[in-house]
Amino acid sequence: MFDTAIAGSLPKPEWLAETQKLWPQWKAEGAALQQAKLDATLLWIKAQEDAGLSIIGDGEMSRQHFVHGFLEQVEGIDFDHKVEMGIRADRYKAMVPQVVSALKLRGRVHDKEARFLRAHTDRKIKFTLPGPMTIVDTVADRFYGDRVKLAMAFAELLNQEALALQADGVDIIQFDEPAFNVYMDEVNTWGIAALERAAQGLTCTTAVHICYGYGIQANIDWKRSLGEEWRQYEKILPALARSSIQQVSLECVHSHVPPQLMALLKGKDVMVGVIDVASDQVETPEEVADTIGLALQYVPREHLIACTNCGLAPMNRELALKKLKALARGAELARQRQAAG
Ligand code: ZN
Repeated sequence: MFDTAIAGSLPKPEWLAETQKLWPQWKAEGAALQQAKLDATLLWIKAQEDAGLSIIGDGEMSRQHFVHGFLEQVEGIDFDHKVEMGIRADRYKAMVPQVVSALKLRGRVHDKEARFLRAHTDRKIKFTLPGPMTIVDTVADRFYGDRVKLAMAFAELLNQEALALQADGVDIIQFDEPAFNVYMDEVNTWGIAALERAAQGLTCTTAVHICYGYGIQANIDWKRSLGEEWRQYEKILPALARSSIQQVSLECVHSHVPPQLMALLKGKDVMVGVIDVASDQVETPEEVADTIGLALQYVPREHLIACTNCGLAPMNRELALKKLKALARGAELARQRQAAG
């Protein structure tokens, strides 16, 4: 009852990269950097296990950013000439690489960290990849001239890597699609089709994470502009429920998402966000169990996974550790409450 997992990212130790940044600079290079990435991965595997999580991730220690980590292995992308672009419907500006020719994978992207993760835990492992729509929204296209064509090109590459990750022993492959909460009409016309293309042929568990973003100021301001009730999910969950994707990761705690929208995901596993990534306040086990209790009104318990609202990358490391423990303890308390009837 109630698996526990993180959405994906965790804070990088200060000896690996700049802290509390979305696009941090690495602190080492060459072989030393490769070793430091794996050392940090091992540290977080152990921390997740010690906290008591049942699904373990690599914490995205080996990628600078959740989208650009994948792009670094894609031919046809110019990383040397980044341009400033408004992303997520101009919510914030970012320096993004440019697509300058036909896209092709140079080789494996995440083989080292996926195999390392598999070798160092016996628990279920989840691996995250950016979703096609979110990638399209985080690069400047100078070649394809069409968001759908570009998304499908990325989806093919993601699919190659996802199939290889499955062969590496990954149990759950999750595509991160924060852009789904921004371009709801496009999600229905091509976003989910591109996502399914990325997941084509996978026999492991497939998942999608849809959130309102990291706890950075631009996102906090954006959330303030969304009004009393956030109903973005209402426009996309019905189509996701009909899709082949098996798990959906959603924000719940402290968000203005009406919890009854989770009922739109009938038949799917729902990763319910019970940890707020935009607050420095550590949730108590009681709060976490209460959020799980609220979600249980709309999600059957065999389909509920307790999760964080989003990644923890820009967070203070000690704080993130406390939040992992709160997540596991809260899920344990919710299990006890269920058992008590
Ligand atoms: Zn997220």
